[in-house]
Amino acid sequence: MVESINGPRSLNIVHLYPREMNIYGDHGNLLTLIRRMQWRGIEAVVHEHHAGNPFPMQADIILGGGGQDSGQAIIQQDLPLIRQPLCELIEAGVPALLVCGAYQLFGNYFKTSTGAIIEGLGIFDLHTVGCENRLIGNIVTHSDVFGEIIGYENHSGKTYLGKDALPLAHVISGAGNNGEDKTEGIHHRNALGTYLHGPLLPKNPQIADHLISCALGNRYGSDALLPLEPLDDELAFQARRIAKNRPR
Ligand code: GLN
Repeated sequence: MVESINGPRSLNIVHLYPREMNIYGDHGNLLTLIRRMQWRGIEAVVHEHHAGNPFPMQADIILGGGGQDSGQAIIQQDLPLIRQPLCELIEAGVPALLVCGAYQLFGNYFKTSTGAIIEGLGIFDLHTVGCENRLIGNIVTHSDVFGEIIGYENHSGKTYLGKDALPLAHVISGAGNNGEDKTEGIHHRNALGTYLHGPLLPKNPQIADHLISCALGNRYGSDALLPLEPLDDELAFQARRIAKNRPR
């Protein structure tokens, strides 16, 4: 439902499974969203979703982080229970960021390196197969929408997109989805799936602002789609420069 833009603005961030799915600094994605909203006078209301709880009633942005195979196995019982609201929200254009383990579980399935199948949500048209050699290191990619995206990857899963799925970016250096086809992540409606940790958003503020601006547009209508007030991103640019020049 579109609300009036006049008056204080606030956005609800749903954080999926923060206990099990939060590695390599992914919590920083949440902190970045909160800060960039606060700096612009937008209140951030965070709803943690834990296994066994009802899915939060209000969701303007959905966040999910990476997790070990064991963490993914723990939440797999809960995933089918939240599939319907998640699917409806994503298809309605709610912005989302799903990193690594969460990214994999938004796909059709993850076959781990031990051969176990973890069923996914089937929201992203992709599947993942665990392999012996982990894909680890700094990664630089390029996206026509977001420009250069810089991060760090560490996964055993190799992800293969369905034939009509759009990658988030193309790999410049690093492995990305599978180390074979130069794709990285997925871009489905306003939802982004990616292997990039680091965390992603402090070093890639253009993606944080994309999530915030989509959410404002959904909640407050097209008047809210004016460009977001620019912030001083000098520190982020410095971090990008350093990260980009690190050896893999
Ligand atoms: N367990 C998954 C893998 O190794 C995800 C790892 C992660 O989230 N970094 O492929």
